Amino acid sequence: MFTEPHRPIDFLRRRGWLEVVCGSMFSGKTEELIRRLTRARIARQRVEIFKPALDTRYHDQNVVSHNQNSIRSTPVQSPSEILLLAGGATDVVGIDEAQFFDESLVDVCRQLADAGTRVIVAGLDMDYLGRPFGPMPALLATAEFVTKVHAVCVCCGELAAYSYRLSASESQVLLGETDAYEARCRPCFLAGPAARPAIEAARAAWAALGLVRR
Ligand SMILES: [Zn+2]
Repeated sequence: MFTEPHRPIDFLRRRGWLEVVCGSMFSGKTEELIRRLTRARIARQRVEIFKPALDTRYHDQNVVSHNQNSIRSTPVQSPSEILLLAGGATDVVGIDEAQFFDESLVDVCRQLADAGTRVIVAGLDMDYLGRPFGPMPALLATAEFVTKVHAVCVCCGELAAYSYRLSASESQVLLGETDAYEARCRPCFLAGPAARPAIEAARAAWAALGLVRR
């Protein structure tokens, strides 16, 4: 588990850095972001949280994770707004759903960290086709600390790194996730729709043995 580097109480020499938490859908990225931000608040640091304005899945103002833990956040249209709003008075800046921002987020995070801010970014590392997503590759390359969290494959129970899209849409951005995506491991992601009959067949076999209810 990630723990914060020791930060001496020295208000004249602030030290900034960049942390990235990445993974697929349902991997617990946002829970991890909230955990770190909550710890910073306990340490009486000034915390600001931002997310792209287009991500209005659950609630306009809150960063909300699937387990309903939430923390107040500010929706912004572009990364440059983060610089304006975070200003110099913020110790820790959290950014959720970073994959939806454009590449300028990379330079904004660098400027914040250079100026002494601890920046914690959470986002999808790959899109539904397994391609690196938006500014995430450059953020991963320039971060001091990288944490990749994993979901559980709904087909076979292995660790899952892919977000498998159940709908036929070909848009890279598709919100409303629980019904539109599932977490899958590499073989089940590659198997596509064929991975589903496999688990249904297994379930039927288990049911025949009386191991599970139909
Ligand atoms: Zn699998």
